Amino acid sequence: MTIELDFTHDANATSWVESANGHPDFPVQNLPIGVFSHGDSARRGGVAIGDFILDLPGVATALPEGGYDAALLGNAPVLNALFAEGRDMLFSLRGAVFTALTDASFREDVEPHLYPASECTMHLPFLVHDYTDFYTGIHHAVNIGSLFRPDNPLLPNYKHVPIGYHGRSSSICVSGTDVKRPTGQQKPAEEGGTPEFGPSKRLDYELEMAIWIGQGNDLGDPIPVGEAEEHIAGISILNDWSARDIQAWEYQPLGPFLAKNFASTVSPWVVTMDALAPFRTAQPARAEGDPEPLPYLQHDTSHAAFGIQMEVLITTPKMREAGAEPHRLSHGPMTAMYWTAAQLIAHHSVGGCNMQPGDLLGTGTLTSGEEGGEGSLIELTEGGKKSISLPNGEERKFLEDGDEVIMRAYAEKDGYARIGMGECRARIVG
Ligand code: MN
Repeated sequence: MTIELDFTHDANATSWVESANGHPDFPVQNLPIGVFSHGDSARRGGVAIGDFILDLPGVATALPEGGYDAALLGNAPVLNALFAEGRDMLFSLRGAVFTALTDASFREDVEPHLYPASECTMHLPFLVHDYTDFYTGIHHAVNIGSLFRPDNPLLPNYKHVPIGYHGRSSSICVSGTDVKRPTGQQKPAEEGGTPEFGPSKRLDYELEMAIWIGQGNDLGDPIPVGEAEEHIAGISILNDWSARDIQAWEYQPLGPFLAKNFASTVSPWVVTMDALAPFRTAQPARAEGDPEPLPYLQHDTSHAAFGIQMEVLITTPKMREAGAEPHRLSHGPMTAMYWTAAQLIAHHSVGGCNMQPGDLLGTGTLTSGEEGGEGSLIELTEGGKKSISLPNGEERKFLEDGDEVIMRAYAEKDGYARIGMGECRARIVG
């Protein structure tokens, strides 16, 4: 496991890009990578720094040693090739970009390659070949299970095997893309009845984190759990939109299908494993009596979790008209995962499945287990039985057209600069 701290984590480091200093998301200690375009220019790799985006291919020749090759790989509409190079390449790039943005002697050559983020359009960072959504949020699993099986919420496999399903990659959208309310078959009002068909009436979000695969593995050659982190490109925020009425009708026996294939939204910035190094933390201990993971899932979990805080907020059309601030629906930590990111990768590949650069692994809904930590509306409203009230008096059981869901995440720790993931935001349209 590579968790090393170096000069790029120095909390006292400042950039000559002044908006970066004290920036809640993108100080020079973060340097997340994404794909942007400016005006009619081509999509290409960029690094967020304060209120600006550094054009990677543009700045390649102006970077100090170690940055050139990686920056040139950013000269592409997606970053699969850059991240396929593995963590060493990203480590070199981070060091070079950090120096270029902190050492004033680089300013003259680097500054022409900065674009105001407000003038840029962000795109998906990868061509996503495969998307897998896990179910690691144990409090979410208990809450959802309780709706169906009050006496026995967790199925007997949950604590032995990381549960997941293969999702749909073609409908993964970058933050800011509208989400069209899906139409589909819905569970009959009465048992044995005819299913309803129409626009979903129980449209929900799921607060998740995205784990991106960097370097892949060959078919038939599993990734050992102890090496799994070397295969992670970085982390973003994921909203796994879910149509609960479609889901309730179709999910047995093979799991989610149309209830989740109409859209999944990700935040555009890939926060790298090196940026997250100071915020790694112990995987919470398993409850007494829980089984030990099988040997292929056992590893050193002393720094295997991510000290990331997440939150989900909503605005409605009425709130926006009135100029109201988004209302926070819930918040909680990423440590709500029952399985570590490394265990997810080891498990995913143990049968020989080949992971590819740009594969997206969703953590599953991360509900904190504390009040105010519910990661979906179905939990907040107890399956749609009760409404939640917004500050302006509006009520919601599920999402209505025009509602906008905003997810944010950040990492904070004494002695280190706070870094953020940015936003995962999208509006429901009818
Ligand atoms: Mn999910």
